[in-house]
Amino acid sequence: MSNTKKLKPGGTRVYCSACNCSNSKGSRPELSFFRFPSDPKRSKEWVVSCRREDLLIKTSEYLYANCRLCSEHFEDCMFVNPSRKNRLNNTARPSIFNVKNPPPKLGRKRRILDRNEDLLPSKGKEVAY
Ligand SMILES: [Zn+2]
Repeated sequence: MSNTKKLKPGGTRVYCSACNCSNSKGSRPELSFFRFPSDPKRSKEWVVSCRREDLLIKTSEYLYANCRLCSEHFEDCMFVNPSRKNRLNNTARPSIFNVKNPPPKLGRKRRILDRNEDLLPSKGKEVAY
């Protein structure tokens, strides 16, 4: 596969990919627009978070190259510099969306597992074959 990156000359038209969000660099120049993460796992999390199920079939490369989210979808604590909001930290995930039924938190299942783990005797359990 050859992925040639093409940057359109003269300022690309940057707009937010989130559901129910029509912010663009043109209409909201004060906002920052963030590329989707290049890491496939995190990229998918962003897609789920912003309710764009149609994008789930896209590769992280495609999302990274073509899709962005505006800074309105990120909490202050997710920015490296909350005052300027133009840099996200490495684990940032969009969480503020104007939707009625947000997707279930991915962490929930994990918590139940963690609780069950407490019941197990020890972490380094021996496996007998
Ligand atoms: Zn947005």
